[in-house]
Amino acid sequence: MNVDLHTHTRPASDCSHISLREYIAWCVEHGVEAVALTNHGDVSDNRTLEPALAAEGVLLIHGVEISTLFGDFVVFSPDMDFLSTFAAVQAAPRAGDIPQDAALVWVHPAAGGGRSGSAYYPGLDRMVAGVIDAVEVFNGNWLGERYVTGAEQIAAQLGAARTGGSDAHETGRLMACYTELPDPVRSTADVVVALQQRRTIPHRPEAPRKRRFGLF
Ligand SMILES: [Zn+2]
Ligand SMILES: [Zn+2]
Repeated sequence: MNVDLHTHTRPASDCSHISLREYIAWCVEHGVEAVALTNHGDVSDNRTLEPALAAEGVLLIHGVEISTLFGDFVVFSPDMDFLSTFAAVQAAPRAGDIPQDAALVWVHPAAGGGRSGSAYYPGLDRMVAGVIDAVEVFNGNWLGERYVTGAEQIAAQLGAARTGGSDAHETGRLMACYTELPDPVRSTADVVVALQQRRTIPHRPEAPRKRRFGLF
């Protein structure tokens, strides 16, 4: 199943232009089976949207994004009370902070921390090696070559799973990048296991076709 593993709604993410009503409407219109909501240190929209989306047959995957001195991370867990302990800007989690039923994704690693203002530097990988399950190699806002190549290198170095997510703050950007997960995906727990087992395939939009010289 193809799932966008990185999205933002308002009011929980004040930087997002996607209202809860628009989020639901987009999912229904596009036949979305599952989508991950990963607001900045705030799971209140997850709590509101889960039943509303379920009524439309859409599974909401629970995550929260945190910004740290090492960069931005998305924590996935089926335990909403655990997720609600995270803040938009905070210290980087250490090994031992993340329970067995949760997974940590280092999002847009080469782009640095969105809210912490931290920059990526080589060697950072070692600081987070013990705690990372996955690296977001395709982020809808950071598809430049250096960000993708940088993220791919980090993922390879860490032996981490690779993910894709739109990081959408507008409905038009939803599913710009996404992650292929092994079926079935019935819950957030299934996504956590897929990340832990490195059974994810990241996708980004196909590059625009290069014109073949002479044909046009
Ligand atoms: Zn971010
Ligand atoms: Zn984000």
